[in-house]
Amino acid sequence: MSGDANPRPAGEGTTSRARLDRGRGALGPALELVHTGRAPTRSVLTAELGVTRATAGAVAAELEALGLIRVDARPGAAAGSQGRPSHRLELAEEGPVALAAQVHADGFRAALVGLGGRIVATTPSCEAVDADPAKVLGAAMDAGADLLRRTGRRCVGAGLAVPSAVTEPEGLALNPLHLAWPVGAPVREVFAERVRAAGISGPAFVGNDVNLAALAEHRHGAGRGARDLLCVATGHRGVGGALVLDGRLHTGSSGLALEVGHLTVNPEGGPCHCGGRGCLDVEADPLALLTTAGREPGPEGSLLHQANELIREEYGDPVVRTAAEALIDRLGLGLAGLVNILNPDRIILGGLHRTLLDADPDRLRAVVADRSLWGRSGGVPILACTLDHNSLVGAAELAWQPVLDDPLGALSAA
Ligand SMILES: [Zn+2]
Repeated sequence: MSGDANPRPAGEGTTSRARLDRGRGALGPALELVHTGRAPTRSVLTAELGVTRATAGAVAAELEALGLIRVDARPGAAAGSQGRPSHRLELAEEGPVALAAQVHADGFRAALVGLGGRIVATTPSCEAVDADPAKVLGAAMDAGADLLRRTGRRCVGAGLAVPSAVTEPEGLALNPLHLAWPVGAPVREVFAERVRAAGISGPAFVGNDVNLAALAEHRHGAGRGARDLLCVATGHRGVGGALVLDGRLHTGSSGLALEVGHLTVNPEGGPCHCGGRGCLDVEADPLALLTTAGREPGPEGSLLHQANELIREEYGDPVVRTAAEALIDRLGLGLAGLVNILNPDRIILGGLHRTLLDADPDRLRAVVADRSLWGRSGGVPILACTLDHNSLVGAAELAWQPVLDDPLGALSAA
């Protein structure tokens, strides 16, 4: 893939150019429809955009010229269409990518992510997180730059997921409680510097890992089609929450909304790093499961991996089962409170919470229904997250956003 962003072939006729001018405002919405799998054919694209067939054709051709999608030249009968054959629209196989990175309590990883949330390549997970954010992010970006060189892909920008609330507009990591990073570390500034130092072009973005997981699931996974989507997940340590309203992350007035980890779910519970007691963060995360089951965390694998394996492999053991049920009840109590406040139309669970849901879906749903006003009437669907590495994919979504907003402007500027 060359970096040539020349948008139109020379000598194109004035008629199609006039059509494209009318359709330019539709390029972003059109790309988003293909990106999220909602426009598999040109006829669906035409209907979704509410434009003429000629305009939709010009828009699709322009996105193809930008190297973002592929228009199947041979129209075939599309499943679910009204019988008229239509050109299939697919994401370009060798198109541009976003460089995504995720840092968590047990390590970090970088990946290249194409449109459609497709992970093109990843580095192996690295298992130590330095106390200096610049060192960690530098190592992640050097590994990412190496992936870009090896694949030869064009990069639209970089996104980073961190296990901390990130203030807006400053971009400070306010509570990197499970990393040794300083509280209030200027993570966006440091990340942008490391991106530039690694020779990576394009803008740099940072977000909270669970927020980004929710965004990715809303666009490509278990959250598709939900209007008020609540996501609750454990990272490797602690518990986070996120809300996607009408397709946009609700981050609050300064980026700090949905700190659900510090809901009290067990007044008799243990002390929390926030100064409270019995918070979801310390009562329903991977370490809490191991501790409640009387297990010492082992040296092999992350706490999340060890907790998931304990449930998957030893659920028949009454001690493990009782511990899992205790966590399900605490999680259910937290979710019930959130349902009362937020009235979501869908809840999705990630990390260890997804494993707990799989282990005993009836128990969790019953606790939420019993303890919530809105949950009792009709019930809120509670589903498992479906994407692998959803925080990484969400970090890439941040970097893709300028292209989704204005494909021609973003790719011509680079
Ligand atoms: Zn707390």
